[in-house]
Amino acid sequence: MSGKDYVEKDYYKVLGVPKDASATEIKKTYRKLAREFHPDANKGDAKAEERFKDISEAYDVLSDEKRRKEYDEARSLFANGGFRSGGPGGTGSYSFDFGDLFNGNQGGGSGGIGDVFGGLFNRGGRQAQPRRGSDVETEVTLSFEEAVDGATVPLRMTSQAPCRLCNGTGAKSGTTPRVCPTCVGSGTVSRGQGAFALSEPCRDCRGRGMIVDDPCTDCHGSGRASSARTMQVRIPAGVQDAQRIRLKGKGAQGERGGQPGDLYVSVHVDPHPVFGRKGDNLTVTVPVTFPEAALGGTIEVPTLNGPSVKLKLPPGSANGLTLRARGKGATRKDGTRGDLLVTVEVVVPQTVTGDALTALEQYREATASDDPRAALFRAAKGA
Ligand SMILES: [Zn+2]
Ligand SMILES: [Zn+2]
Repeated sequence: MSGKDYVEKDYYKVLGVPKDASATEIKKTYRKLAREFHPDANKGDAKAEERFKDISEAYDVLSDEKRRKEYDEARSLFANGGFRSGGPGGTGSYSFDFGDLFNGNQGGGSGGIGDVFGGLFNRGGRQAQPRRGSDVETEVTLSFEEAVDGATVPLRMTSQAPCRLCNGTGAKSGTTPRVCPTCVGSGTVSRGQGAFALSEPCRDCRGRGMIVDDPCTDCHGSGRASSARTMQVRIPAGVQDAQRIRLKGKGAQGERGGQPGDLYVSVHVDPHPVFGRKGDNLTVTVPVTFPEAALGGTIEVPTLNGPSVKLKLPPGSANGLTLRARGKGATRKDGTRGDLLVTVEVVVPQTVTGDALTALEQYREATASDDPRAALFRAAKGA
């Protein structure tokens, strides 16, 4: 059973009492249910047996004022979506890192929210297992050029690491934690008898298996501290706006030889004043004159971070025609590049004077018999 399952269990629902039920009410309800589903009264009924187990488990937690409070806190955190740690690529079974998330809030040598989770989830001697580091989320904003070409950017990150003063033991310098005498270091104890023996977190060490008598002054016994580090992160070429990049093994470090977590970087890309992006291709709009469009010619086109290129504009090019400059687009993962898509836009002069005016008037006369709207009117009449 994972920690999440544990918290997803609704003990109030199991007992059928409201969340604000009094201790007396819980006790009364429990007694009634326990009588009803007791194995002695339901011989061979597996469902009743299961129900009896659930009822006992629920009552165990809710009847203990302190544990009930811890349980309520843990549940409300889950309900608020407090856990983003873990995430995709996690180990699946136990990727939440409660210590990372909550030890920072601790004010005293014991107690605090980190202990709540320690108590609730470090069952079955789990604390002896290697633990994978948690995944870390961060954001970065790149310029348009950086996104196209790839860039190495510094990312400053804070994460939880073993406390340096106590080397993660949680014990004050010069002292060492001692093995919990109640559970002999396993972190769990068995209660009940026979088929209904329940394994539960040791209450004396809160499931940690160790007891710290003199808490470390830096981490207050949690054994963890936040550390800030700046990492140079290579963002690959061709990254798109709103893309999320996974950098394997760049998250929080693991514990007891566990794998490090992953780093997820959400990328924002600033727009470029001239160039746009369509997948691997870059786009640019280039103004051309009417004579250029009509007669054709060679137009010079800027490229991103490179020398300009010359493109052939065919005679009779329509406004909005798109030309292609091969290999002048964004860099792909394999190092090849997309194209630059050049859209021509015929510009109309605001004022025409002098020789240009004379020439244009002559042009109008010369083309007076060509009615550009003739086809339009024919079509409008449905001919
Ligand atoms: Zn113990
Ligand atoms: Zn410490």
